[in-house]
Amino acid sequence: MPIAQPPSETGGHRSDVPVNPIFAREPISIPRFALPDQGLDPEIAYQVVHDELMLDGNARLNLATFVTTWAEPHAERLMTESFDKNVIDKDEYPRTADLEARCVRMLATLWNAPDPEHAVGCSTTGSSEACMLGGLALKRRWQIARRAAGRPTDRPNIVMGVNVQICWDKFANFFEVEPRLVPMDGDRLHLGAAEAVAQCDENTIGVAVILGSTFDGSYEPVAEVCAALDDLQERTGIDIPVHVDGASGAMVAPFCDPDLEWDFRLDRVASINTSGHKYGLVYPGVGWALWRDAAALPEELVFRVNYLGGDMPTFALNFSRPGGQVIAQYYNFLRLGMDGYRRVQQTCRDVARSLSSRIAEFDRLSLLTDGSELPVFAFTVDAEAPFSAFDLSAALREAGWLVPAYTFPANREDLAALRIVVRNGFSHDLAGLLLDDLGRALARLEKQPSPQRGAESSSFAHGAGAPAGSHQR
Ligand SMILES: *Cc1c(COP(=O)(O)O)cnc(C)c1O
Repeated sequence: MPIAQPPSETGGHRSDVPVNPIFAREPISIPRFALPDQGLDPEIAYQVVHDELMLDGNARLNLATFVTTWAEPHAERLMTESFDKNVIDKDEYPRTADLEARCVRMLATLWNAPDPEHAVGCSTTGSSEACMLGGLALKRRWQIARRAAGRPTDRPNIVMGVNVQICWDKFANFFEVEPRLVPMDGDRLHLGAAEAVAQCDENTIGVAVILGSTFDGSYEPVAEVCAALDDLQERTGIDIPVHVDGASGAMVAPFCDPDLEWDFRLDRVASINTSGHKYGLVYPGVGWALWRDAAALPEELVFRVNYLGGDMPTFALNFSRPGGQVIAQYYNFLRLGMDGYRRVQQTCRDVARSLSSRIAEFDRLSLLTDGSELPVFAFTVDAEAPFSAFDLSAALREAGWLVPAYTFPANREDLAALRIVVRNGFSHDLAGLLLDDLGRALARLEKQPSPQRGAESSSFAHGAGAPAGSHQR
């Protein structure tokens, strides 16, 4: 686990951080892992930190992450102006609290809550926290119902696809719920409705369905899962709610696929989360969790904080959190509106589809998905090619592009793919440059005798089965 472990001293890291002598007043070298005895002048400290960060990748060429890497200067200005605001201090910053409440109401409307005025929801640090809250509400509701029926509550389980993002493995682990992971099968690379229901029983607290699988950008069939659970209830009386993990898709589908029913239009959908910092277009640090109505969120999980001398209900794992991200989310909602978000997400989808169709034209490459759901697609390298998906990822990295390669989970461990996430700011023009570099890389790789790299060369992981030490994007 990469927790507080300093990098190996043998890995070329010296124990001191050298400082360019041009800045020097003493000291010109500062300890790497200990607080320096004396402080530095702010200019020097700034330059040292700034220079350390220079070797981070170029965010615009990072086609691995879903998270916002560019925002408008006006959003940045608002965030700078509110660095000092703690979102939990509702009493001190009632206007910030009010903007958060407005965002919740806007999302409730966007996701077709039956009564948006009384929708329950909150901001979070991201979808991970929001999924924990969604899962906790499911667990508590199940416990309450079981106790009322005089049934045992010691063996809760949650059903989801093996492709779930790692936050669901964390939820199951931290909150002691048995994870029932539905494996992939053949061309089915995400959760299937019949397969999900086959794993459900009276101890199932809920089914987590993903709108936008991180593995290939495909939408899981929320409506089909709900219908299959309706059928289960008719046959057995077991009533199992659904949480939709819309980390990406809940900010794409409402604009690009308004007729797709995946949200609170489906009675069985109890709660939805999204990452404000993904297709919500805010810099890292904000997510949202919403419940269809107060009944879906057990009252005993809600805490009260002081708000203008009154009472404000909150539900969150964190206490203190920056207010700027919530403010920037509200700015984006005002600035873009329905039409603006539609334009931004549709442009991403157009770029993704056109890029995927050009990639499909290369002899050795085949698409798994084409970017027509999330603006995200995955493609594979032919088994007969003298290079692997990992070789191709490394070759693109030489040209500056971060296009991760990874293997799929059970039962498609045989499948290795590359994935491209198209975000706002990745233009047709940049896609053209990527294609040029891709063409050059393929021509060169074609001349190598055999594949050079396997899965062990990839540090990228984003879901179940992430090897220890890898990090998720
Ligand atoms: C990114 C993602 C998460 C985790 O979201 P964070 O905002 O990074 O915490 C959870 N689920 C899915 C489907 C995701 O894509």
